Amino acid sequence: MSAQNSSQAIELAAKSPTAQGGATIRFLAGGTNLVDMMKLNVERPQVVVDINGLPLDKIERLPNGGLRIGALVRNSDLAHDPAVIRDYAVLSQALLSGASPQLRNMATTGGNLLQKTRCVYFRDTAHACNKREPGTGCSAMDGHNRTLAILGTSEDCIASNPSDMNVALTALEATINVQGSKGERSIPIHEFYLLPGKTPNRETVLEPGDLITSVTLAAPVAGTRSLYLKLRDRAAYEFALASAAIVMSVDGGRVRHVRVALGGVGTRPWRSVEAERALEGKDVSAANFRHAAEAALKEARPRSENAFKVELSKRCLVRALTMATTNA
Ligand code: SF4
Repeated sequence: MSAQNSSQAIELAAKSPTAQGGATIRFLAGGTNLVDMMKLNVERPQVVVDINGLPLDKIERLPNGGLRIGALVRNSDLAHDPAVIRDYAVLSQALLSGASPQLRNMATTGGNLLQKTRCVYFRDTAHACNKREPGTGCSAMDGHNRTLAILGTSEDCIASNPSDMNVALTALEATINVQGSKGERSIPIHEFYLLPGKTPNRETVLEPGDLITSVTLAAPVAGTRSLYLKLRDRAAYEFALASAAIVMSVDGGRVRHVRVALGGVGTRPWRSVEAERALEGKDVSAANFRHAAEAALKEARPRSENAFKVELSKRCLVRALTMATTNA
């Protein structure tokens, strides 16, 4: 079913009992994730609403110097946008590190925000999975968990958020704009994703009928540099084992402003305020970077196969901070 306008689409989607996994009514954009899930029988919507005709595919400069990115902007268009490359390099780099050119040509900003975990048990209906089917158990706890999360986990789920884009948007403190059955609202990205807790099936604060319309970025802070560093098993078409998104400025050899987000290790894109606190106002030095990395991973809770991620993530963060401050 194709949507003529957003109000029609929202009215229809609001009839679904949930906007989370297993929703009976789904919005379809690029289809790079939802269609996969439908082929695997993980998602079985009764109605799929094609929103590709909606006018949500623009990247616009805002009067305050920020940027509005429409929810239907394709990942490749966003990665290659001159304003994004110049002012939000971390975002362009994160997008280009993910998936393949073909997938990036189809995948959208809104869809990437809702990308599903790559936990193998979530994708295989023969196994117990609390995220896919609440109350059935978690096959990953003592199973194949090498790629899964070590931060923000619970007794019920340790799935990692797979997106690179989401990590960059977290470091950029993006705002997610939503139109729902009760009107429009804006959600800071750090309030958008939920920790798994006892309800890992609820991944975001979205309600039935909510349509992500755009993402806004604040004007870049003067003098900041940003970058994304991704460590993975192979150089292309692979998810992060550990990644770091850094937005940072240095003045007189001291860190003036810094935002840190980690990928591959969190159940949601992982903002590390602990690392930021450890860095702000401190000298740029290897020792201070390592101290920040220790703070960032202090609460890590690895399982049987993924303890290596603790040190890998620390080294990834130290390396990213070093790169961000070289010649700064
Ligand atoms: Fe399911 Fe989460 Fe356990 Fe994976 S880690 S099997 S997604 S409950």
